[in-house]
This record gives sequence, C-alpha cells and structure tokens, in this order.
Amino acid sequence: MRARLLSIAVMLGAAATGLSWLSLQPAVRTLVEVARVDPVRGEAVLRVTRAMPVILTVDVLGATALVFLVLFFTVGRPLAALDELIGQLARPQLGFGDAPSGPLVSRISRTLKDATTALAAERAQREAQLTELRSANAQLLRAQTELVSSDRLASVGKLAAGVAHEVGNPLAGLLGYLSILKGKVNPEAKELVDLSVVQVERIDGIVRSLLELGRPSRGKPAPVELARVVDDVLRLLGASPELRGVERTVEVPAGLVVLAEVGPLSQVLINLVRNAAQAMNGSGRLWLRAEVRDGKAALELRDSGPGVPADVLPKLFEPFFTTKPAGQGTGLGLAVSRHLLTAMGGGLEVRNHPEGGACFTITLATV
Ligand code: ADP
Repeated sequence: MRARLLSIAVMLGAAATGLSWLSLQPAVRTLVEVARVDPVRGEAVLRVTRAMPVILTVDVLGATALVFLVLFFTVGRPLAALDELIGQLARPQLGFGDAPSGPLVSRISRTLKDATTALAAERAQREAQLTELRSANAQLLRAQTELVSSDRLASVGKLAAGVAHEVGNPLAGLLGYLSILKGKVNPEAKELVDLSVVQVERIDGIVRSLLELGRPSRGKPAPVELARVVDDVLRLLGASPELRGVERTVEVPAGLVVLAEVGPLSQVLINLVRNAAQAMNGSGRLWLRAEVRDGKAALELRDSGPGVPADVLPKLFEPFFTTKPAGQGTGLGLAVSRHLLTAMGGGLEVRNHPEGGACFTITLATV
C-alpha cells in the first residue's frame, strides 16, 4: 500500500515540478539573452543555470514528500483500516468463505458478496429453525391439552360409570313398567306414557354413553381392513333421513389394514358422520380420505358445514360439551369416540379445513 502511494506521490511530484519548469521557460530564456548581451551579469546567470538540476531535484523531492503525506493521511490510512476489516470479515470462523486475494477493490467486492450470501443462508436457516420451533410448540400444546382432557375424561368417566351402573337397573325396570302401563290406560294417558318412554329411552342412551366412558378397553385390537369398516358404516347410515341430502366422496385405499376393534371403530364413525350431517343441516358434501402418515393410518372426515368456531375447538372433546339445543345433544359423542380410539392405541383430532368445514382425523396403527 505504501509503495503504491509512494509511486503515485513521485509521479505527481515530478509532474508538478515539470509544469513549474515549463512555466519558468520564458523567464529563463530572457536571462540567457541578458547573459549574452551583458557578460558581467552573464556570469551570475550561468551560476544559476548550473544549479538548476539540483534545485529541480529538491523541488521534485519536496513535492513528492508533500503529496505522499497528504495521500497517506487522507486515503492510505482509511484504506488500510478497510483492508483490515475485510480481512476480519473473511475469517473462516465468521463463515464468509476464504480470505480472497488480489487488488483491494476486488477483494472488497468479493468479500461483500460472500458476506451477503452467508447472511442470506443464515437467515434462511434461522427461519427454518423458527418454523420448526413453532410446530414443536404447537405439538406440545396439543399433547398437553389432550393429556388434561384425557385425565379429566378418566375421572369423569369413572364417576359417571359408577352412577350409570346404579341408574341402569332402575331405568330398565321403569321402561318395563311403562310398557305394561301402556296396555292398561285410555288413549289420552297412552300418549303421555309414550312421551315418558321417549324420555326414559333418552336417559338410557346417556347412561350407556357414560358407561362407555368409564369402561376400559373391551377387547384386543386386531387387523381390520379400514375400507371395509367405512363401507359398512356408510351402507348402514345410507338409508337414514339425516344423510339423504349428503353427497359422499370416499377415498380409502383398499388393502389398508389397521389395528382396531370393529365395533367401537364403527361406533366412532357413525358418531362423526352423523355429527357432520347435522352440522350441514342434512345437505352438503362429506369427504372420507385415508392415507398412511408417519407410519400410521390417518382417516380424515371432512364436511362442507360451517366448521367449528375457534373458541369452541379446545372444548370439543370435553364430556357434556354440546352446542346443540337441549334435548338434542348430550355432548358425550366426541368424548366417547376419543376414549374408544385411545383404548385401541389410536387418536382423534379436529381442525377446521382451510377450504371450510370441520375435519376430524382418526389415527390408527397400521399392520
Ligand atoms: P353432541 O353431538 O351430543 O353435541 P358431540 O360430543 O358429538 O356431542 O359433539 C360436541 C359438539 O361438537 C357438537 O355439539 C357440535 O357443536 C360440535 N361438532 C361436532 N361435530 C361437528 C362438525 N362436523 N361440525 C361442526 N361442529 C361439530
């Protein structure tokens, strides 16, 4: 760097002295003329002319020193600092590649290019890490919610099953007495008995669901062809008025075998399909799709209904949570469904589909 500055200073110093020498030419020529006409003064002029090379050399040296100092402080030092900085940036530990060689300007440009590439790569890596972290967080939150809900379900289930067991027998007796009473009363009272039977049967249904909640796994999951269970359930429900206006798209690959108990799995599917039909008010579309995801079978049931409001989503699997009018929903269907699937080693999740409607995902182990 100093050598380059010195060579520039020498060139500028020589150029400045040369220019001065050229501008002095008319005066020198006049002096030479005077020396020719007047020999006495001419002696002095000749002495000056002889000393000229020394004077010019001193001029060149002085100008060179001055230009060098000015260049050194205004350009040399800042460039040296920049060079040092570029060297630091190019150090391997900062990850901006190997230190480049060559002229300073091209080194600066190459280092800045490397730095930009390295920064962009680092940014992309950070963003990927952030996305990963967010998804891990969401998964953790889901697992925690599931744990709390299954814990609550277990204690509610135990309590409910105890009560249901005690209530079950008197209920069966009550239904028996009502059917005897029906044959012995006048038509007006018969209508009241019929209404009582409907209500008692409703209580009986609730009691059965409660018993289901507290019941441990009934049997051992065995290999079942998922498409067959889905087909059977849809055939069973096909004739019901609830599903008459619901179009169905079924994409369950034949030969997908899962570990499940056919009875409870059918019960879960019936519950989910009926819920979907009710959410769509009996007309819309239902998609049933299955695939293998992360080594497990995932069966998605998506409907074209209104979906589930965001504030309701976390409560959906709580026992007795329902949005249906009194007398129409018990709020036990989803709690029981998840309980049954968990007992089979599977699971049940819900989300709103990006294209609208609720989407329930059943997971089961594959064989
Ligand atoms: P119930 O059907 O007796 O209300 P569930 O446990 O089966 O009990 O369902 C609980 C609640 O979940 C329902 O009241 C309803 O608000 C909501 N839900 C269930 N399935 C759907 C669906 N496909 N679309 C929108 N909401 C649903």
